[in-house]
Amino acid sequence: MESQQWVMTPMEHLPAEQRTASFAEVLLGYDASEVLAEADRCIQCLHPLCIQGCPNENPIPTFIGLVQEGRVLEAAVIDYENNALPSCTGRVCAWEKQCEGSCVLNARGEGVRIGAIERYIAEYALEHRQEFEALRTARRAAREAAPGRVAVVGAGPAGLTCADFLARRGVQVTVFEAQAQAGGLLRDGIPEFVLPTGTVEAEVRRLTDEGVRFRFETALGRDVSLEQLRNEYDAVFLGLGACTARGLGVPLEDSAGVWTAQAFLHQAKLALEPETGMAPPTIGERVLVVGAGNTAMDAARTALRLGATDVRIVYRRTQAESPSRSVEIEHALTEGVQFDYLVNPVAFVADARGHVRAAVLQRMRLGEPDASGRRRPEPVPGSEHESPCDAVILAVGYKVAAEMLRDLLVLNRDGTVRTVGEDGETGLGGVFAGGDAVRGPATVVEAVHDGRLAAEAIARHLLVHGAMSMAATA
Ligand SMILES: Cc1cc2nc3c(=O)[nH]c(=O)nc-3n(C[C@H](O)[C@H](O)[C@H](O)COP(=O)(O)OP(=O)(O)OC[C@H]3O[C@@H](n4cnc5c(N)ncnc54)[C@H](O)[C@@H]3O)c2cc1C
Repeated sequence: MESQQWVMTPMEHLPAEQRTASFAEVLLGYDASEVLAEADRCIQCLHPLCIQGCPNENPIPTFIGLVQEGRVLEAAVIDYENNALPSCTGRVCAWEKQCEGSCVLNARGEGVRIGAIERYIAEYALEHRQEFEALRTARRAAREAAPGRVAVVGAGPAGLTCADFLARRGVQVTVFEAQAQAGGLLRDGIPEFVLPTGTVEAEVRRLTDEGVRFRFETALGRDVSLEQLRNEYDAVFLGLGACTARGLGVPLEDSAGVWTAQAFLHQAKLALEPETGMAPPTIGERVLVVGAGNTAMDAARTALRLGATDVRIVYRRTQAESPSRSVEIEHALTEGVQFDYLVNPVAFVADARGHVRAAVLQRMRLGEPDASGRRRPEPVPGSEHESPCDAVILAVGYKVAAEMLRDLLVLNRDGTVRTVGEDGETGLGGVFAGGDAVRGPATVVEAVHDGRLAAEAIARHLLVHGAMSMAATA
């Protein structure tokens, strides 16, 4: 093998000094010759570890093999057969821990940049929709139709995937979404510079073209009940996500200027769409972001783009325990975000108007591993100190809001929906669930996986159910 085959084909990205001046996407993706060069690095293993590394078990070597032959649309058809949102997963997956991290080339060099290849072929398919759909239809004819009507609750990656896979089987799908638009956290949470709204919209358009109907601003538990949906539809999929922000439970956390990352990122995203009339969040110059996951990185990088000059991430563990994707940490660092590890806010300080003016931080040290396998942070007594700030963004986790289902479904202690088996059955006839609503805050590709498996289980349910009602009326 030539030595250049051990290193990834570089990808263009916005220079660091230009990034914080706008919300433009940072990673620019491959062009036609770059994607070919990168695909050519794949050695088509007999026992591909990349598939095992992908939570959705995408047929990676098959679609890369087609790219090697210049058959990009066919590659996209293969990928979309397993993954409803490849233009999104190709941008937001933690490849280094999943497919790319499992690639055998890592043993001597760098794994194949699978995410970037996936992004390229998905974008190519979305740009050449007619030819792409014609190719897909030819393949799809062989699959058994599963007639019926299904209600999907939540238009995040889990719900969209479930809707897509059911629509492909001829099922009439209606998606009930509390917000005014589809996408879930792909649209309301992950910022434009990581995942452009136009990309999410292109995938949603594909679904509406397939016949999926959306009922926006319609919330389960407020505008419609699970009993109603069960009466009106043959099956229900719950993809409610984990959309309620957690707090720290420390004094003066409710001061003005203390944001949840959820509210902050959503408002910042809406402000980019002039028709919403939403103003960007006002945050001042010195911003403290609490937490170190993807949400914290996104919040910190958004704060820089909104004009903050001193943005600091405070985290009670160290970078080694950070759950963020490594590319997000790298981008945050190059854009000028500062990191204070092993500190934890124990209170906030407000001015006479009730606006936050400082965080009281306590130093931490790492003790023995906890249930998550990460070393438990322990406070250093007497180490409290004030850190002045104009705004605080809490990125300390999300929880599931499924209390309204408690009478009908079993909820776990953390509020997640309990399922039986791997394909999302809840134990309540015809009701399935997946994504963050079941896992707690997780990842896009896991939501896609759950939505796909649930759709397959629902299709089986519809076929049995349909056959039974035909037998009953015979
Ligand atoms: C800021 C941020 C950055 C992230 N970055 C990444 C990343 O880089 N990579 C990655 O893989 N993952 C990332 N994640 C996690 C990822 O976005 C989620 O795991 C994924 O979106 C979960 O999909 P879901 O469909 O289960 O839920 P969601 O995306 O949360 O969608 C749930 C949908 O259900 C709707 N809903 C909720 N309640 C109701 C109701 N009662 N009635 C009707 N509709 C309802 C919501 O409005 C929402 O549209 C990030 C998350 C955040 C917050």
